[in-house]
Amino acid sequence: MEFCDECGSMMKTEGDLWVCGSCGAEKPREEATEGGMVTTQGQEEGEIVDLSESEEDARPTTEAHCPECGNDRAFWEMKQIRAADESETRFFTCTECDHKWREDDH
Ligand SMILES: [Zn+2]
Ligand SMILES: [Zn+2]
Repeated sequence: MEFCDECGSMMKTEGDLWVCGSCGAEKPREEATEGGMVTTQGQEEGEIVDLSESEEDARPTTEAHCPECGNDRAFWEMKQIRAADESETRFFTCTECDHKWREDDH
């Protein structure tokens, strides 16, 4: 929002200028306003989306039998549940049906 130096009325944007709606006075708009910032934010959002997609693809898979659909490949990750009486446990996610289960202790 910008106000006219001459008469104090609200000014409108017209290209690179502020133009007074009442007396017609003009003054140049300062740089580093809306235009440039919106462009930068848009680019950053695009990059974040790309990163998360590539992370999904990079998850490690292993041979594991899915009890749900019988598929023999699953993503896996190590998680520590109870520090006291249990060491790290492997959790699987089926690459086909997305079923999740934990590795049984034998
Ligand atoms: Zn004015
Ligand atoms: Zn499955």
